[in-house]
Amino acid sequence: MASPEIDALSKALARLPGLGPRSARRAVLHLIKKRETALAPLLAALKAVEANLIVCGLCGNVETRDPCSICADPRRDPAMLCVVEDVADLWALDDKRLFAGRFHVLGGRLSALDGVGPGDLAIDSLVARVADGGIAEVVLAMNATLEGQTTMHYVAERLAPLGVRVMQLAQGLPVGGELDYLDEGTLALALRARRLVS
Ligand code: ZN
Repeated sequence: MASPEIDALSKALARLPGLGPRSARRAVLHLIKKRETALAPLLAALKAVEANLIVCGLCGNVETRDPCSICADPRRDPAMLCVVEDVADLWALDDKRLFAGRFHVLGGRLSALDGVGPGDLAIDSLVARVADGGIAEVVLAMNATLEGQTTMHYVAERLAPLGVRVMQLAQGLPVGGELDYLDEGTLALALRARRLVS
């Protein structure tokens, strides 16, 4: 039997995405064994994030500055804006330096099932941001799910009167993808997005 404190830590970790009770217990054990090299730095990092955490008022990125380092970066192309569902999508795209412009985080996707409507997402602030001017192209990088695509079409409609170029991601074959390994949805989208052989 672990002490109540260790048990509480295990339970807290087990609630994290990707960690179950078993892996949480293993993580706790690791932290206990490596007190100096694992527990102390983790604690310091958690405290630093907790003390400085802030949501960027411009783009919705979670950071320690407002505006965030992406919004404040003068090397970014101010005419390009990429709209994503969640901060995790922003981080994934930005990690790989795939987009040279700035971002806008919606904070979720439209979902009738979960009762998420347009007012629950940062859509009004997106429209206001684009209406302010200076943005020439908006890339709607929604997930290739039904809800992601519904959100994408809704946002595209809202942006249509503003006269900016509104783009969506291509939903074709993944690089190196072999047809018989692809799921039905990807194949159907690839077929639908077919274009002339150039
Ligand atoms: Zn920002």
